[in-house]
Amino acid sequence: MVMSKKEKVFIYSNPLPVSLEIKDELAVKLKKSDFEVISEYQPETSLIFCVGGDGTLLHLVHELNFPTAPIIGVNTGHLGFFQDASPEHVDEMIENYKSGNFYIQNVRTLKATIRHEGMITRWYGMNEMVVKGEVGCTVHLSIAIGRSFIEHFSGDGILMSTPAGSTAYNYSLGGGLVDPSLEVLQVTPIAPMNTSAYRSFTSSLILPVDKYLFIRPEGADCYIRMQADGFTREFDKVDTIMIGYGAMTLHLLKSKDFNFWGKVKEKFLGNED
Ligand code: NAP
Ligand code: MN
Repeated sequence: MVMSKKEKVFIYSNPLPVSLEIKDELAVKLKKSDFEVISEYQPETSLIFCVGGDGTLLHLVHELNFPTAPIIGVNTGHLGFFQDASPEHVDEMIENYKSGNFYIQNVRTLKATIRHEGMITRWYGMNEMVVKGEVGCTVHLSIAIGRSFIEHFSGDGILMSTPAGSTAYNYSLGGGLVDPSLEVLQVTPIAPMNTSAYRSFTSSLILPVDKYLFIRPEGADCYIRMQADGFTREFDKVDTIMIGYGAMTLHLLKSKDFNFWGKVKEKFLGNED
């Protein structure tokens, strides 16, 4: 007799009771549907369920080091972009997965290469990477796109976002909302100063996939505070920071009726016609 191998499914959840309850229900349903529910992510995992909000998905992505398995987001928070399936539709989602009735949204991610104190640190982001200085101080940065120097920036910082991150911090800063089918990078200034001494662009810049941003801190100690998807790291004596698309792509499993612009309207403008 040939035993077919069960598909391994990993369920990630935020610690809220409502999410943990759904996690348990999901585990029971998945086992009934002949999946193996594993307690730790493994490279052979064929599917990940993420229970929580969009922030929970970001935590999952960083904790599991940008996993390659497709991810289904089950939303227990506010209206979610990554987490678009509602808990009532769990049975339907399992059915759709089994019958191939879904599509995969590929999300390319960012890579920052930071040269500091004679070392190189590489760091990754799904929504965005942010470069700032000391809390409460302006940061002075020399900025180039590829080989072209573009500006001496002074202000709170610079943010580079993916289309997936365009609806997050980027949007709060006045950046543009980007259709997920586009592969572009968006560079948005954070409170740029424009005086007779300092000049920097005030709008977002849209770059193609193969362009990199080169940032060189100006000033004595070259201390930099960076944020990737809300996680913060500090670097001393930074020489350069290079940010652009990296090689890692995440795969979000979406139902065929997912409508990005409908979601944007609902989240930011409300439900009225
Ligand atoms: P958080 O500070 O707890 O929450 C930030 C908010 O952003 C949450 O409401 C979260 O949704 C939402 N969010 C995350 N990714 C999103 C996306 N792609 N599109 C629309 N909304 C999104 O931090 P967190 O939950 O760990 O999320 C980290 C993100 O916060 C960062 O990547 C950054 O984009 C964002 N952020 C925004 C601001 C701002 O708007 N001024 C400032 C700092 C950071 P859920 O409630 O569904 O989790
Ligand atoms: Mn959050």
